[in-house]
Parts: sequence; C-alpha cells; structure tokens
Amino acid sequence: MEMFRLFFCEKSAFALYFCSDMMIFTYLCVMSMDFATSLLIWYQRNARPLPWRETKDAYAIWLSEVILQQTRVEQGEGYWHRFMRLFPTVEALASATEDEVLRAWQGLGYYSRARNLHAAARQVVSQGAFPRTIEGLRSLRGVGEYTAAAIGSIAFGLPAAAVDGNVFRVLARYFGLASSPYTTQGRREFTTLATELLPSAEPGNFNQALMDFGAMVCTPQKPRCELCPFALTCVALREERMEELPVKRLKKKVTERRLTYIYIRNKGRVAMHRREEGDIWQGLWEPLLIEGQDKYKLQTVGREGVVAFVYSAPTDSPEEAVLAYPQLLVRNQRHELTHRILMADFYFTELQQPLALPDGYCWVDEGKIDEYALPRLIVKLLERLPAPCLQSP
Ligand code: SF4
Repeated sequence: MEMFRLFFCEKSAFALYFCSDMMIFTYLCVMSMDFATSLLIWYQRNARPLPWRETKDAYAIWLSEVILQQTRVEQGEGYWHRFMRLFPTVEALASATEDEVLRAWQGLGYYSRARNLHAAARQVVSQGAFPRTIEGLRSLRGVGEYTAAAIGSIAFGLPAAAVDGNVFRVLARYFGLASSPYTTQGRREFTTLATELLPSAEPGNFNQALMDFGAMVCTPQKPRCELCPFALTCVALREERMEELPVKRLKKKVTERRLTYIYIRNKGRVAMHRREEGDIWQGLWEPLLIEGQDKYKLQTVGREGVVAFVYSAPTDSPEEAVLAYPQLLVRNQRHELTHRILMADFYFTELQQPLALPDGYCWVDEGKIDEYALPRLIVKLLERLPAPCLQSP
C-alpha cells in the first residue's frame, strides 16, 4: 500500500513515501525561501495592474476583497470603481441606506456580501478606525479567515497567509499534497504550509502573488506549465497529476425551484415586493410571485388551456374570481445560483382596477423601477415587457 506524508521544518518541506514495506525519503524542494523568492520575482514581472494595488487604504482593499469573493476580476473591477465613486470612504458607505448599497451592487449576485459590507462599514465607523489585527478584522461582519488575512497582510503587513481556491491549487500541485483542502484537517495542512512559506518582509505581496499565479499560470484547467518558473520541481507536473490535484470536494446536490412571476401594471404602477430574510435575494425587489401563496393564483381554464389570474378567497369562503388573462412573456427562464437552479415563468397583465395586494406588496411607480435593487433574473425578465398602453391617472 502506498502512503504519502509531508513534514515541514523551518524552511523546508520533506515528503515520505511508504511503498510496499519500503520507506522512500524524498527531499522535496524546496527551500521555502526559494519558492517565495521565485514567486515574488514572477509577481514583480507579471502582477495584474489593479487599481486597489496602488493604495494601502484598508477600505479600498477590503472593498476589492469582498467584491472578488465570488466574482472574476474583469467584472469586479468596474464595481470597485462604482463603489469608490459612490462611497469614497468607509464613512460614506456607512451613512448610505441599504437600498443605495444594494442598488450599487446590483448584478453582482450573492447579495449577502453587500449587506455584510454595509453592516461592517457601520462597525468600523462606530469603532473609529479599521482594526489592525487579524482578530479585529475577523470581528467585522462578513470578514472570514481569508479576507482578514488578505486585508491584514496587504494593508497592514501582518504575517497572515490568505488561503483560497487558487492557493490550494498551486500548493497541492507544486508539493503534490494528497489531502483535500476542503476538509478541516486538509485545510489546516495547507494553511500551515502557506504560513511556513510566507516571507515576513512581504506577506501582502506574497499572498497577492499566489492569487495571481493561481489565476494566470497554475489555472484550474490546462495549467500553463511551459511558462511556469516552478516546472522543474513541481510534483504534479513530474507525475502528470495536474488534473487530479487538488483533491476535489464532494459536490453538493443541486435542487431545482420553480418561480412564477406576474407583472401587474395598473395605471403606471406595478405591484412589487421586497424579499425578506431567510431566503435568496434578501432585501431585493420583485413583482408578484406565485409560489404556493393562496390569495392569488394562476389557473388554466377552458379547453384551450388559457391561463387566468385568479383571486382565490381564504378557505372559509368559496369565492373565486378571474381577474385577468395574463400574457405569457417568458417560459422556463433558467437561472443558476449556488446549489440551486431557478426556472421562472413570467406573465404580464395590465389591470384597469386596482388590486388589494397580499401582505408585503406595494404599488411602485413604474417609471422609477430602475431605482429599486432587483435580482439579475428579474432584470432579464423585465426586458421582455411590452410598453405601457394605458394612461397614468
Ligand atoms: S508546473 Fe504546472 S502544475 Fe506545477 S505549479 Fe507550475 S503551472 Fe502549476
């Protein structure tokens, strides 16, 4: 049986292979100082020119880290500029309303990041300044281990290794690490190694260098080994295991959810609702959603299969009334979230009489709908709307 174990001492990494009763000792590389130095030289020549790298302002750096948590740099850079323009300081962000922040974030997805950003800005302002320790940074809303290490090392030079998917990949491949970084034990092993490698004089540059290297050279698919300064000593390349490292996490089951929206226009107004806590898109706005609610429903009537928008009274009254025959604009619009696939149908109707709306809904001026923070799926659906044909009162 084959087994592989890594051991670290002050500046070196060693591997022991146990193979059919024989123990093979391999000196892996790798003076860590050499790895760090080579990486920093590579970074000096190849670093991506990003605006938040031209500053030591903790606010600007924090903003970039939060935006880039689930977003590619190409898309995130525009949002970073937008936030810096709208909220140039942490005080400006703290004094904005949640709607203003969500509106600026619109299109980036994972809206809890925006809400946490806003809440953390208020924490910073109430404390008087950005915390300058890893523990202090971790106490901010939405700031986890990785983000605290990134901000701390880049803005304040703290000796903290920021380990994320890019870093896992580079380290797993270069050192041939067989443990999964997605287990508690494996993550600890990767963090220990990254901390061993971290040069005390340039922790921020080292962390950013690893991020860039993982994004530009040691990429998830087709790593560019022919350009890699570590090609001679890389375990994965030598053993042709780039595909299998790092050891993947088990995939979570993806569930499907059906949403039926009905866009109700009434004299220049639209029935809208702000989503609440405990579900997707918290704090964002959407048209009337029919998803198991009982006051209104869509119902197929007649042999032709015409769909009616029906008022359905509570169970103690048998009353039921057709309010309109809405037009189907979009069927089965697919929208993917993490671990969830949404399938949405989108109907439109224009009512002449106002409607008693369900709890949580209100009428909003259709001309001002752009001022509301909307999920990207809803923005996509709204593009299919017909122009208003009734006069406003
Ligand atoms: S040689 Fe290839 S697999 Fe190894 S670190 Fe470089 S890019 Fe990654």
